[in-house]
Amino acid sequence: MTELLFLGTSAGVSTANRHHCSMAIKKNGRLYVIDCGCPVSMLLKQMGEDPKSIEAVFLTHWHPDHAGGLPMLIQDLQLTYKPDNLPIYGPASTIRKVGELQSMFIIPPDVYPFQLEAHEYDEEFVFERDGLRIEFFKTMHLNNENWRKIDDRHGNAVAPVAYGMVLHIDGKKIVVSGDVLSSADIVRVLPDADLVIHEFGHIHPEKLNAFVKEQGIANMVITHIHHEWDLRTDELTQIVSEGHSGDVKVAHDGMRLAI
Ligand SMILES: [Zn+2]
Ligand SMILES: [Zn+2]
Repeated sequence: MTELLFLGTSAGVSTANRHHCSMAIKKNGRLYVIDCGCPVSMLLKQMGEDPKSIEAVFLTHWHPDHAGGLPMLIQDLQLTYKPDNLPIYGPASTIRKVGELQSMFIIPPDVYPFQLEAHEYDEEFVFERDGLRIEFFKTMHLNNENWRKIDDRHGNAVAPVAYGMVLHIDGKKIVVSGDVLSSADIVRVLPDADLVIHEFGHIHPEKLNAFVKEQGIANMVITHIHHEWDLRTDELTQIVSEGHSGDVKVAHDGMRLAI
């Protein structure tokens, strides 16, 4: 059985009920982690999973709510002796940022029992293993003029770039929006999607409802929940479900979904 594990489901502001954004695909007993908001290792253990079973980590972008758990995950795997390599896949600048992170947190590579591999993907790159295929598409969350100006002011050290992902698992197509500027960012990858996992940190519920209706989306899970909606999930589900027959769920930390 293949499962999606929703580890952390908050957006940029943590709440008393939700940790930062992270999920995992569990396939053949192995874990493929998508985004690494804090505290991934603890959340996996809460769900009865062993972080040492992580095959790879994929970051949609380097905002702290998506990557802030990475140093703690690396330290956990160092101290529990993960036997095999930890590949980290992220957008352009990931190799540099993983190197900076290791020196910042006093976890130099020669103390690890495993190899930490940093890889950079783009829209041409495809990850395939275990019958799992992952494709990557840019969203407008950071790939826009505003962020390019900020990046220029900082000598291009910010490297603003953000992606969503398309997962092909067991004959199913699952779209993971990543962070978006608007839902329009994912329209080009929607055809034939069996499930859409949509972020809810940068969009009003009425707009998300209109998007589901316009696109005829049959199955949606909402995650990356804006802190003001943390405890209003019934209201959120009701607004986004209004006027169509599609299934809408709001994710919570620790939620499992069979594929
Ligand atoms: Zn975010
Ligand atoms: Zn972001």
